[in-house]
Amino acid sequence: MAPPRTLLIAGAGIGGLAAALAAARAGFRVVLLERAARLEAVGAGVQLAANATRCLKVLGALDHLARSAVRPDAFHILDGTGGRALAQTPLGAAAERRFGAPFLVAHRSDLQIALLTAAHATGGIALKLGRTVEDFTADEDGVTVLASHNGAVEEYRAAALIGADGIRSLVRDRLALAPAPPVFRERAAWRAMVPMELMPQALAGPTVRLWLGPDAHLVSYPVRAGSAVNLVAVTQDGRAFHGWGSGAAPDEIAARFNRWCPDARALIGLPERWIRWALFDIDPLKRWGRGRVTLLGDAAHAMLPFLAQGAAQALEDATVLGTVLAAAGEDLEPALRLYEARRMARTAKVQRAARGADTVYHLSGAGRLARNTVLRARSGEAAMERYGWIYRWAP
Ligand code: FAD
Repeated sequence: MAPPRTLLIAGAGIGGLAAALAAARAGFRVVLLERAARLEAVGAGVQLAANATRCLKVLGALDHLARSAVRPDAFHILDGTGGRALAQTPLGAAAERRFGAPFLVAHRSDLQIALLTAAHATGGIALKLGRTVEDFTADEDGVTVLASHNGAVEEYRAAALIGADGIRSLVRDRLALAPAPPVFRERAAWRAMVPMELMPQALAGPTVRLWLGPDAHLVSYPVRAGSAVNLVAVTQDGRAFHGWGSGAAPDEIAARFNRWCPDARALIGLPERWIRWALFDIDPLKRWGRGRVTLLGDAAHAMLPFLAQGAAQALEDATVLGTVLAAAGEDLEPALRLYEARRMARTAKVQRAARGADTVYHLSGAGRLARNTVLRARSGEAAMERYGWIYRWAP
């Protein structure tokens, strides 16, 4: 017999942590099984649009992020080669009024700490590090999970299992939910963090900048209370594996941007070290779960990062899961199907929009000129309204 109102979560990334928090706030006892021996923030920065910060507020984690996150004053889109401004959108108080919640940028580890701090304050969550979920079986009243730990196999039992185990989800594989395999998109995201004092004067300050160029783009924004800057450069790349050290050499990326405008080249020249991240997504799934098992975050809807929505969608998943769990009876199966029904169409739409942004961002030739003309003709607010349906979402 599975203990009632208990939950197992595979994976303690942003999605798993947020889901644990949401479930604990709904009165569940949660065991969070994480493969890594330590919680490390893979990558660097994360943009948190209004839909994401609204979820963080509901989860009780927003205040914990306040000291380390930056509230940018504006979002600038620029032409990568010519350097010309294409659109400037005020963020700060103006965007908060417009979309009903703040836009923030943060270091991933600060976001993880905020979620963990809120989890500790809520109670009822056991975080088990160094546990790899290897398999599970589901029956009428619960789920049994086998996890390896230091060469031994541990068994866990709970009323339901949430697979928040990322794009290469074992839970998704075991559920055999087609079409599952991640698709390599022939692009790499090169990520680096530099101290703010190294930034050229004109580019310092609390602004998110996006330079668009043929087959590449570059993003910069401050994190860590403005003491560091997160850089993400996206290029075409045929290597379907991540790279660091010689696999992400500063010379290689400098060569890729050597025809770009001086500001973009100056930023590309700053980091001593990059991490090259091969970009994959998955096609929208036809279903997310069976019985007392479901998926959340990248496991359910891994997407290209061009709209900065992967973590945001995981936070939305978690708040919806919390709402349905709070209202659930003893049988959790209908609650999990309701959660999926509330999430699947929206996340599929965001996945498709992220693929669309891949095309628009990386245009060359006449397409690029047409895009730039449209962007310059519109107000910055209008450019942002294009994604208003994403930012205005509320649980
Ligand atoms: P993950 O972060 O992948 O976490 C999965 C966890 O599960 C990991 O800790 C892993 O160790 C664990 N795990 C895996 N398998 C097992 C197992 N068998 N047993 C136990 N544990 C397991 N999103 C935004 O919202 N804003 C942004 O600005 C943004 N920028 C991005 C920039 C780049 C370059 C990239 C690549 C992504 C970006 N994203 C952004 C997307 C975002 O990072 C992801 O969507 C988000 O982190 C997914 O969180 P997750 O918890 O679902 O998965």
